[in-house]
Amino acid sequence: MAKLSRQEVDSLCSFVDERIRQQGCDHTHRFSREWAALKSFGWDELLDLLEQYGGHCDCEVFLNLPEEIEVEWVETATEPTRPNLWRLPVNFNASSDDNFNLLIFCDAKLGRNTHALDGEILVPAPRGAKPRKGIRKSVHFFLGCSSGMPAEVGVVAECDGVSAEVFARRVADSGIEELSSFTYREASFVLSKISALKPGMPVGTNFMSVFGASQAHEELRIHRVVICD
Ligand SMILES: [Zn+2]
Repeated sequence: MAKLSRQEVDSLCSFVDERIRQQGCDHTHRFSREWAALKSFGWDELLDLLEQYGGHCDCEVFLNLPEEIEVEWVETATEPTRPNLWRLPVNFNASSDDNFNLLIFCDAKLGRNTHALDGEILVPAPRGAKPRKGIRKSVHFFLGCSSGMPAEVGVVAECDGVSAEVFARRVADSGIEELSSFTYREASFVLSKISALKPGMPVGTNFMSVFGASQAHEELRIHRVVICD
């Protein structure tokens, strides 16, 4: 993040002003750029900062940069990056009030590496999580929201309506480290996937590569599994 102290703003403005008086502004940043080189200031960063304050050429830098304060370039294009461990699509829209009434529960009868407790609520483990007990290497898994233990499969079942915010708090408050960054956005994303499924359905989870128009990305899936006994 670029930042200029009051002294630096002062120095830049008088440097630019002096040269504009002699040579005029050719509507580029040639003098600002010269100043940046002189002070070993990264040009790209400085340019972002100047433009944020309306300094689209040297004369505008002089006119528009506030003299009395230090100026700081505030990143607006992207939010502070938080690891996207559940691979939410970048444009995923969530509200903390989103309400759901299907969840995934652990069912010990399903066999298949269900180490979580019978009846426990399950959520997909974040990308990169290591199961605390044997899970096949080829599959991703759920985590029990109170035990933190893994399960390859769970079963969809109805619950009393729960909002994304309340569910997220319940999950994050479980004290399970892998689930500590599960916010209402993750909750809304996971629960909306579950709401497309049918009660009683046995399900598994994985990350699927999606090859879109722009670039390949991963997407979390919760999918039906067939249990053979
Ligand atoms: Zn100009």
